[in-house]
Amino acid sequence: MSTNVIYMDNNATTRVAPEVLEAMLPFFSDLYGNPSSMHSFGGQVGNVLKESREQIANLIGASPDEIIFTSCGTESDSTAIFSALQAFPEKRHIVTTRVEHPAIKNLCENIDKLTGHKHKVTQLPVDREGMLDLQRYEESLTDDTAIVSVMWANNETGVIFPVAQMAEIAKNRGILFHTDAVQAVGKIPIDLNDDTAIDFFSISGHKLHASKGIGVLYVRRATPFVPFLMGGHQEHGRRGGTENVASIIGLGKACELAGNRMEDENTRVKTMRDKLEQGLLEKIPHSMLNGHKTERLPNTTSVSFEFVEGEAILLHLDRFGICASSGSACTSGSLEPSHVLRAMGVPFTAAHGSVRFSLSVYNTEDEVDLILEKLPPIIENLREMSPFWKGNHPGMVGGSQCKCSC
Ligand code: PLP
Repeated sequence: MSTNVIYMDNNATTRVAPEVLEAMLPFFSDLYGNPSSMHSFGGQVGNVLKESREQIANLIGASPDEIIFTSCGTESDSTAIFSALQAFPEKRHIVTTRVEHPAIKNLCENIDKLTGHKHKVTQLPVDREGMLDLQRYEESLTDDTAIVSVMWANNETGVIFPVAQMAEIAKNRGILFHTDAVQAVGKIPIDLNDDTAIDFFSISGHKLHASKGIGVLYVRRATPFVPFLMGGHQEHGRRGGTENVASIIGLGKACELAGNRMEDENTRVKTMRDKLEQGLLEKIPHSMLNGHKTERLPNTTSVSFEFVEGEAILLHLDRFGICASSGSACTSGSLEPSHVLRAMGVPFTAAHGSVRFSLSVYNTEDEVDLILEKLPPIIENLREMSPFWKGNHPGMVGGSQCKCSC
């Protein structure tokens, strides 16, 4: 299998940093003890877990005892929602957004089935730039609202929501606040010591150069909490199951690295992202940026190329070893534009041709230049073959939107 790739799909997953892998390896071989064991062989592992908890807490301005290890971001999200619903069983309303990751969206949409109780879920709309209306948010909160769950940063567009402000509003109404911060952690500075109204906060290791299969749920001290996975006394009885020791050690190291690389992420990586984005928008006609221009993660750009299919673009990029992702999902044979782009009101012809590039500190400017060289002719060729492009379709003039009902 080829490892010679230009990897710009870091919002999907990241490479495990070499330093992280090195830190993990002894815990597969020499130090394989169970941290809960009474003997010192296992006990020494418990001590290293403490260090990892501190490294993770440091990155987000939390206390180590507010960190609960889980198996992934999805588990952290589910734990937060179920915990709030069980802590306040008389409340049956959840407020969230239309652009959440499926880890929250699908959960909220199926919550009645999962709990056996009727719930009302408000999914707040976003505007054309992917932003929320705070007044509308405030008006959506009721005495029946158990929890608000709003992502910190969107995985497709990188758009950042004002979660600290939204959490304050919820707190003033006595409502718990969860944020899925899976895409934000390690990319932008976060300090939960400042953002004191956030009760729950989800992290996923594989989005910040740790391994897959490790997540964290931050639970603020004194926030009512009901465990999701019951079992042993691990995590002080807050999450049963023997700890994924090597991955926890790796996540601790990844958080330390992310703290040290935060400036690089927000300067060099952002500069490369901007060069790529501007270059594509300038070189390729009928292209547009999806999402707010500035309220955005430094590594993410989602660009739509009208009248072409995102999947076709990805296949052509793949021939050059370029990895990106598209805003469409092939569901049951039909290509549906992503729920995020639909919620933003991105026109159908553009939503279908969207491509997300998500960079990391491992990318280089040469890679950006290569994409700027390869992608414009790919789009041009695909458009020449498209029945919807320019004179290729009777209902269209000069690349305009089709006027017929095809
Ligand atoms: N939330 C967001 C915003 C994500 O981007 C993802 C993964 O893509 C998840 C949650 C799920 O994380 P995990 O893959 O660790 O379950």
